[in-house]
Amino acid sequence: MRTVRSNKTDWILQSNHENLKVYLHQQSLASIDTSESLETITLAYEIALTYVAPSAFEESVTVLVVKDADHMHQLIKKKSSGMAFPRQHLVVEVVGVIQTSHELFHLLSENFWGKSAAWIEEGMAIHCDNQWWGHNLHDLAAYLKQQNRLYPLETLMDNTSFHSANSLYSYPQAGSFVKYLSENFGKDAMFTLWQTKNFQETFGNSASYVYHDWLRSLDSLSVVQIDYPIQDL
Ligand SMILES: [Zn+2]
Repeated sequence: MRTVRSNKTDWILQSNHENLKVYLHQQSLASIDTSESLETITLAYEIALTYVAPSAFEESVTVLVVKDADHMHQLIKKKSSGMAFPRQHLVVEVVGVIQTSHELFHLLSENFWGKSAAWIEEGMAIHCDNQWWGHNLHDLAAYLKQQNRLYPLETLMDNTSFHSANSLYSYPQAGSFVKYLSENFGKDAMFTLWQTKNFQETFGNSASYVYHDWLRSLDSLSVVQIDYPIQDL
C-alpha cells in the first residue's frame, strides 16, 4: 500500500466543505491566493461529485497541495503533477498545475463505480473538466489529427499501450472521444461502457465503427491553430 508521510506542522488546513479538507503546504503559499485556491478546489470537487455520483460522498476527502514536482516526488515517489489515492480518499497535486476536477474524478469514480479501462478512466476525468490545458477538447483533437498525433484505436484501448503512449496526445484524444460518446449516446451509456468496456453491447456498433465516426466528426471542425507542443509520438 502506498503511503504519504510529511511533518504535520508544514501544512495549513483549509476547508469550506464538510467532506473536504485541503492541506496547503507552507512552501506552496508564495505562488497562490489561499482563499482563491480553496474555492477553486472546492468547486472542482463539487463538479466531480455531480459528474460521478447521484448522492453525496460521505467519506472525508483530503487534498494535499505541494509546492512543485520535486516535492511531489519526495512524497509519493512518482513523477506526476497530480495523483489520486482512491482507497485513502486522498489527492496530491502540485500547486497551480492542476486544481481541476481530474484527480478528484479518479478518486470518486473508483469509489462509486470501481475500475475501468485506462482510456475510459482518463477520458472521463478529462471530460469532467471539459478542457485540457485550457483547450476545447474537440478543437484540440482536430488539431492533433491534422498534426498526425492521434493514436490508433488499438493503442487507445489496450491498457499497457495507453500507459506507454505519450500522454500529451493520448489523454486529450481520450477526452475528446469520451466527450463525443457522451454527446451522442448520453452519460448513462458512458457509465455502461465503464462497466462493460463493450462497444457493441453499449452502443449497438463496434468500437472501430464508433471510433471512425468520431474521427470523421473532427474533420467537420475548422482546425484552429492551437498553441500546443508537437513532439514525437
Ligand atoms: Zn488521470
